[in-house]
Amino acid sequence: MKKNKTWVRSKEQILICGYCEVCGKQLMSDKGNWIVNAEKKKFCHNGKDELCFNQYINNRKNNDRLSQNKVR
Ligand SMILES: [Zn+2]
Repeated sequence: MKKNKTWVRSKEQILICGYCEVCGKQLMSDKGNWIVNAEKKKFCHNGKDELCFNQYINNRKNNDRLSQNKVR
């Protein structure tokens, strides 16, 4: 059996603020390793590189390029 509740012993209430748009990871209120973009979408962030956020931007660029090609 897999146990997901590893933060049971904590005194402070830890909330799940949302899920990463790219990898689907839970983003907890006690950890600052995620960001919200202008579209109110949330992404993993390790404080140095924007990780999943960068991936999302890159994917979007690729999709834009593809859809532009389709139009022609
Ligand atoms: Zn992520």
